[in-house]
Amino acid sequence: MKEKIQMTTPLVEMDGDEMTRILWKMIKDELILPFVDLKTEYYDLGLVKRDETRDQITIESAEATKKYGVAVKCATITPNAQRMTEYNLHEMWKSPNGTIRSILDGTVFRTPITIPSIKPAVKNWELPITIARHAYGDVYKSVELRVDEPGVAKLVFDGESGKHEEVVIQNFKGAGVLQGMHNLDKSIRSFAHSCFKFALDSHQDVWFSTKDTISKKYDAQFKVIFEEVFEEYKAEFEKQGLEYFYTLIDDAVARVIRSKGGYIWACKNYDGDVMSDMVSTAFGSLAMMTSVLVSPDGNYEYEAAHGTVTRHYYRYLENNKDISVTSTNPMATIFAWSGALRKRGEKDGNKELQNFGDQLEAACFDTLNEGICTKDLVNLMEGITPKAVNSAEFIGAIRERLEKRLG
Ligand code: NAP
Ligand code: MG
Repeated sequence: MKEKIQMTTPLVEMDGDEMTRILWKMIKDELILPFVDLKTEYYDLGLVKRDETRDQITIESAEATKKYGVAVKCATITPNAQRMTEYNLHEMWKSPNGTIRSILDGTVFRTPITIPSIKPAVKNWELPITIARHAYGDVYKSVELRVDEPGVAKLVFDGESGKHEEVVIQNFKGAGVLQGMHNLDKSIRSFAHSCFKFALDSHQDVWFSTKDTISKKYDAQFKVIFEEVFEEYKAEFEKQGLEYFYTLIDDAVARVIRSKGGYIWACKNYDGDVMSDMVSTAFGSLAMMTSVLVSPDGNYEYEAAHGTVTRHYYRYLENNKDISVTSTNPMATIFAWSGALRKRGEKDGNKELQNFGDQLEAACFDTLNEGICTKDLVNLMEGITPKAVNSAEFIGAIRERLEKRLG
């Protein structure tokens, strides 16, 4: 047996819920621990523990990510009314991802894992498209009014200095609707930093789009801030032969469809919400979508884009916890681990750990390219005869190929 790969700095490990919590342990046991002398600082973000600690554990895990710089997270339940009863919760705790994102002030980058046998719906897309969604403000933090009689609606600002500004929105002649939204320079600036950092990291161009021809102050401010922040990254972009490119959202949509992919598309909050669903569906499967939260000061949290796959978990419970009845796809969770280990390796100058991240991903591709896959992919594969296996068999097949690769 070869010696295990050593680590110097721990990874922040955030455990989670339901089916993904089961996969989490299998991935660690089969694909990480036999090869890496794994150092982690473990935080159990499973709903039971979050409730027990009054959600302090989530805050602590985010603080640890700030301290160490790299985290890997399992999918977690965001409680709703039904979960309150199911888990007998003290409170309807907030989404852990929301809490972590606001502590790290980060941007989420979603990238599909692509393989030759799964063709995107857009036939000229050859490379993955990464969507960066600004996750603060706009319509998601807006206030609204329904008016049901004639009257004047105004936008009013009262500054602390005594400065007073107002503009008429509309002289209503009858009933209508109103919406007031905002954003913050600080948040937009963080968004820009995260985008340019991630671009240099993943060696990709950045496309950014808004509607500044129509929104001459609001959207224009996004464009101005991106240009300002880009000045700090320009030299490095030039050195790496990368491009930052701004265009109108409608032009961007047309270009994206005609492109061959392989860039980061930075979107305002609403555009990112909509476009990320379009892009992920067009690339095939939610189970093959990775997600990384990047903070403006360069901290990284890796995870799968999908949730805890509750439906599969209940089936597993109904079958006396027999893992062979479920064929849940572990790819995105494995890639969260490989991404985090590679990044940890980069930060620590640990080439072996970086290489391990690459080899783990390559072993996953070896497996899928032989047609061995989970059930969700069977109907998506073309030009190859797929062989559907359960999660344990799939992870076992990856392990065999990883062992071969690591020699
Ligand atoms: P989900 O867990 O993503 O699953 C929705 C459906 O998508 C599944 O039922 C399954 O379809 C398919 N699917 C997703 N991931 C898959 C995988 N790895 N392999 C195979 N199929 C997969 O979303 P949800 O059921 O709406 O949410 C479940 C829980 O996850 C909720 O409590 C929610 O709060 C939480 N959630 C967490 C995160 C996060 O932590 N980042 C994100 C989203 C949701 P079939 O059943 O048809 O096979
Ligand atoms: Mg959405």
